[in-house]
Amino acid sequence: MLSNVSEYFRPRTVEEAFTIMESDRDHSIFLSGGTIVALMESSRIERIIDLKALRLDTVSLKGDELVIGATTTIESFRKDNLVRKEFGDFFYESLSCVGSWQIRNMATIGGSIAPKLGWSDVSACLLAVGANLMVYGADGYRRMVLSDYFTLPAGEKPLITHIMISRDGWLSAFKKFSKTTFDIATVNVALSIKSESGRIKSARVVCGSRPQYPVRFEVVESALEDLKINEVMPSIVRSLVFDNFAGGSNMLASFEYRKHLASVMAQRAAERIMEMM
Ligand SMILES: Cc1cc2nc3c(=O)[nH]c(=O)nc-3n(C[C@H](O)[C@H](O)[C@H](O)COP(=O)(O)OP(=O)(O)OC[C@H]3O[C@@H](n4cnc5c(N)ncnc54)[C@H](O)[C@@H]3O)c2cc1C
Repeated sequence: MLSNVSEYFRPRTVEEAFTIMESDRDHSIFLSGGTIVALMESSRIERIIDLKALRLDTVSLKGDELVIGATTTIESFRKDNLVRKEFGDFFYESLSCVGSWQIRNMATIGGSIAPKLGWSDVSACLLAVGANLMVYGADGYRRMVLSDYFTLPAGEKPLITHIMISRDGWLSAFKKFSKTTFDIATVNVALSIKSESGRIKSARVVCGSRPQYPVRFEVVESALEDLKINEVMPSIVRSLVFDNFAGGSNMLASFEYRKHLASVMAQRAAERIMEMM
């Protein structure tokens, strides 16, 4: 519980929201869907800055990119007609395993990325489609690739305003292992493949809940380039992920168990992509 909250702000512009945050960063927090904020235990937070009046809850097509407002809920994003037209069943299916229907109707895309949660299925899927972010910080608006956001210094916390994604010929699949349907991932894997003449031209191999935040396994991606796409391909993906897994242990699972799970999830994701071809 945030027992010391005494001020509530509902700014109308991104600039205003960031200025309020900067005026007392140590005691302030942004509120989007509130599913994390509502569960926080802190006596430090005194000011809540609600992002809902910023009107960042739309999905639109700009050129060949889908532009998703940061306060779009997970449920409306996965069901959005434009998202389904551009990405088929990828987000619709993958994000159906995030928490429960009630959680997905509150939790937002920006709120899923910002806390850099290791087990975020949303972040893993967005990394696999090569998402970019528009953020607003001390230097104004800035575009950055999602993986760069995860490695920002701890003190640098810009406001995420939009997420930009483009399918651009890639096929993607996502697999999650969790102890129950509603549980967070013990491991999740998102895989995207771009093919040319029956071979893998490029691949994005993402693993989350390692338990650290999701990353791309770039060594695996390089090793997959030019690989023939046939019935052996998924088991090669599995071996490569097993050999190059980078992660750790926590109460949910050991490093060894995660490594095994990640490789199996990667194989299943590759099999799913082959079904789409
Ligand atoms: C019971 C439960 C089960 C869940 N299961 C899953 C699951 O299986 N898979 C999964 O991926 N997720 C799951 N989630 C959702 C996830 O863990 C987060 O709760 C959710 O994504 C947070 O989104 P929010 O919009 O509610 O964020 P909020 O709670 O509003 O904010 C979270 C943090 O991000 C900051 N923030 C929010 N928006 C922005 C922004 N635009 N720019 C900068 N900072 C911002 C806030 O200041 C705060 O620090 C689950 C949540 C719950 C409660």
